[in-house]
Order: sequence, then C-alpha cells, then structure tokens
Amino acid sequence: MPQKQGTPALQDIADWAYAPAPQATDVVRIAPENGLFIGGEFVPAADGRQFATVNPATEEPLAQVAEAGQADVDRAVAAAAAAYEQVWRPMPGRERAKYLYRIARIIQERAREFAVLESLDNGKPIRESRDVDVPLAAAHFFYYAGWADKLEYAGLGPAPQPLGVAGQVIPWNFPLLMAAWKLAPALAAGNTCVLKPAETTPLTALLLAEVCQQAGLPPGVVNVLTGDGAAGAALVAHPGVRKVAFTGSTEVGKEIAAAVAGTGKKLTLELGGKAANIVFDDAPVDQAVEGIVGGIFFNQGHVCCAGSRLLVQESVAEPVLDRLRRRVATLRLGDPLDKNTDVGAINSRAQLDKIRELSDSGQEEGAERWSPPCELPERGFWFPPTIFTGVSQSHRIAREEIFGPVLSVLTFRTPEEAVAKANNTPYGLSAGIWTDKGSRILWMAKRLRAGVVWANTFNKFDPASPFGGYRESGYGREGGRHGLAAYLDA
Ligand code: NAD
Repeated sequence: MPQKQGTPALQDIADWAYAPAPQATDVVRIAPENGLFIGGEFVPAADGRQFATVNPATEEPLAQVAEAGQADVDRAVAAAAAAYEQVWRPMPGRERAKYLYRIARIIQERAREFAVLESLDNGKPIRESRDVDVPLAAAHFFYYAGWADKLEYAGLGPAPQPLGVAGQVIPWNFPLLMAAWKLAPALAAGNTCVLKPAETTPLTALLLAEVCQQAGLPPGVVNVLTGDGAAGAALVAHPGVRKVAFTGSTEVGKEIAAAVAGTGKKLTLELGGKAANIVFDDAPVDQAVEGIVGGIFFNQGHVCCAGSRLLVQESVAEPVLDRLRRRVATLRLGDPLDKNTDVGAINSRAQLDKIRELSDSGQEEGAERWSPPCELPERGFWFPPTIFTGVSQSHRIAREEIFGPVLSVLTFRTPEEAVAKANNTPYGLSAGIWTDKGSRILWMAKRLRAGVVWANTFNKFDPASPFGGYRESGYGREGGRHGLAAYLDA
C-alpha cells in the first residue's frame, strides 16, 4: 500500500534504533539453593527434593528451589496454626497493622531488588515490574494495614472474626503482586498463611518471606512452600486449612472447588478470562489504540483480565486497525532487563507451546494473522505481538484464553450486537468500553457480564478497588473492603 506523505513505513518504524539501557543485576543476590519458609526459617524439603527455576529470556537456570511434599505441607500448616492460636489471632489489630506497614515500607526500600528478581524469573519487562508490580504490591500492604484495626467498621458485621489458616495458591504471571493480593488482606484480618507460588516463578515470594523475617513478623504467620501442582493440591486439601484462595487456570480452579466441597472451607477462585475491549465509532482513537495495546500486550498478554478480544465498530474498523498496527510496530521486544523493552519473554516453554498451538489454530480456521516486523532473540521463549482479523465467534482464538500477546479482532454494528458478542463467552472477568458518551458507558456496563468494566481505560488496578469475576472466571473478590470479606467469618 502506498504510504501517505510523511508517514513512515512499518519497517522503518521497526528499525528505529534505541541505545540499550540495561538494568544492572548486581542489586540482587540469588542463592544457588533456596529452602522453604516454614515457622520463620528457611529449611530444606523433608525429602531433600529440589527443582530449578529458569530465566525464560535466556533458558539459563537461576537457582535451585526446594520442592515441598506432603510432610512439608503438614509442617507449614502446623506452624501457621500455632502462630494463629498463640500470636496472631490474639494480637490487637493496631499491632498487626504495624507489621503490615513495615512489610510495605521494606518492599519500597528494596523495590529495585524485587523488580530485577521478578524480571529475571518471570521474563516481564523491567519497566513493568518496576512501575507496576512492585509499587502495587507495596500499595496492597499499605492499604490493608489501614484496615487491620477497623474491621468492625468494614460493613461486615459488628465483630468479624478471622478464619484460621489460609492456604493460598498463586500463578506465575504476577508472582509478587499475587502474593501481596493474597497475604495482605489475610494478615490484616487476623489469619495466618501458607502460600504456594507457581513452580516457574518462586523467587520473589521467597524474597518476600525474607522481608517478613526482616519486619520481625512472628514465626509461622507467613509460610511459603515452593513446589508444583501436587504441593498446591496437598495444601488446599489439608484439614488444618480453613480458607482456600486460588488464582490460576479455570481447569485447576474446578478441581480445587471439587476438592474443598463439603469441607466447610471458605473458597475464593480467581480464574481465567477472555475479555472484550469494545471500541465505538465516537471513541478518541489514539487513546483507544493505547488502551488496546496496553490491554493485550502488557505483560506479554499473560494477564487474566487481558483485553484479548477487540470488538470494534465496523464503521471505524479500518482506521482503528491501521493505527493499531502502526503502534504495535513501535513495540520493542527483547531483553526484559532493558528499560526500553515493551514486550518481554514468554514465561515458559509450555506456555509458548500453548500460544503457538492456539495461534496456528486461528490461521487454520481462516482468520488473518499479522505481526510487525520483529526479530526474536535466538535463546529463550519469545512470541511476537500478533493480531488476528477476520475472526468469527466460533474460532478457538475467540473462545479460548490464549494467555499471550495475541489479539483477536471482531467487528459489530450496534451496541446490542457488541453486548451479545462480548457476553458470548463462558468467562466473565473484565471488559472495556471506549466511547465519548457517558450514557453509553452506563448502558453497556449494565449489560456486560464481567466482574470489572473499565471505561476509556484498561488494566487499571488499585488496592481499594475490588477485583474478581463470575461464571468460569471464578468467584469472590480481592482488593478493597470486599477483599476482607473472604478472610472473615462475618
Ligand atoms: P495453573 O492453574 O496451572 O497454576 C496456578 C497455580 O496452581 C500454580 O501455583 C500451580 O502449581 C498450582 N496448581 C496446579 N495444579 C494444582 C492443583 N491440582 N491443586 C492446587 N494447586 C495446583 O495456572 P497458571 O498456568 O500458573 O496461570 C495462568 C492462569 O491463571 C490463567 O488461566 C489466568 O487467567 C489465571 N489467572 C487469573 C487471575 C485472576 O485474578 N482471575 C490472575 C492471574 C492469573
């Protein structure tokens, strides 16, 4: 297609050179072997088993990490139960708050260390771990510290009581942030915790355990068990656990729901999503394009609430897609520790295989695939930002969560059609609306079946604002006052 005068070609945009701006890694010391955090100490697994955690950008092993088994789960739950009865439950809320404030401040003080470690272990760009993950994790502890002495004013009854030991299992896409989402409200409410991070990203949870030690948190109040799905399953099934909080795939969420059914354990599930990001013809296009890009390419699309289905009004589809392609061509993919990088590494080979398989199915089913000119590094796990047009609702790429930097574009003509298409999914986690009209935002938001609806923005998080889904995206809320309810017997 001939270029308009003064408009650079996509290849020229992709070729714009930036001098490298690498983040130094000497702020982090990674121990070659890392234990489980039980009863305030780092200890090896009872059977001595370990596994390697790998830098997904280079495939180099970063460290060996202890692999928890049933005996370790028993030890950790016992430590948490003892700390609950003897220390944490009897402690006045205003005293608990001091520990949470302390943890928050230490996260801030050690922010660069956390950010570098997160990018090394997860593959996400340092810009995101530094500017999003770590500040938000600290903000969660600050926020819930404020609630610890005000639980009776949270609107959850006059004397809400903690539940006991919380078993918490988290995924690999926001390892530190998910740990903060789980630990902060649980601790503020007076529960003690056993946290199991994902097997591919255990390191920042272990650094957070070190921060708990540094903050003088009483032993056993927080325990961290590194390991795989078997450790997670043993934790949620443990009879000493009174509350289960899980973030991860819908498939595993269903297994957990079945495992805890009838046990009396309180359960929250934060699962997958396939959000619609809906752009009307009166939307400010540049702003919407930024929102579309942030919605799907932030964190390589490893985001449960990612705007992975773009619904664009037919009359503006061509100009919006044209600008979108030009913007995507400016994204810089590569070294997660380079401060210029927008798109980092895919977290694991298994996840890369899943993204490839689903993307290939999109092509096979007849959608049109596009990626900007973009060189992928030779080592590590990489996938280019990808846009599929000509997608129909029956295509797998319109129905299944890809959990990668892949956008499926569909069009609509009327608001009713947009609602019908947006809701045509088994998930219900998030949605976005881009329009100039406030009345249309309200009309749409009322009809969209999603836990979070953003208007003229996307992927915005705040500890004061509840987050969660329904249908196959799970149930229960994290964040805000609502996030406390999950950890109180109110
Ligand atoms: P996953 O379900 O495979 O694993 C999540 C965690 O569960 C890991 O720690 C894993 O070791 C553990 N686990 C695996 N099998 C288990 C079992 N049988 N019992 C107990 N624990 C078990 O998910 P993932 O691939 O690590 O993460 C990606 C998924 O997480 C995506 O579907 C994404 O949408 C979802 N997610 C949801 C939210 C949300 O808030 N709704 C946030 C982030 C990620």
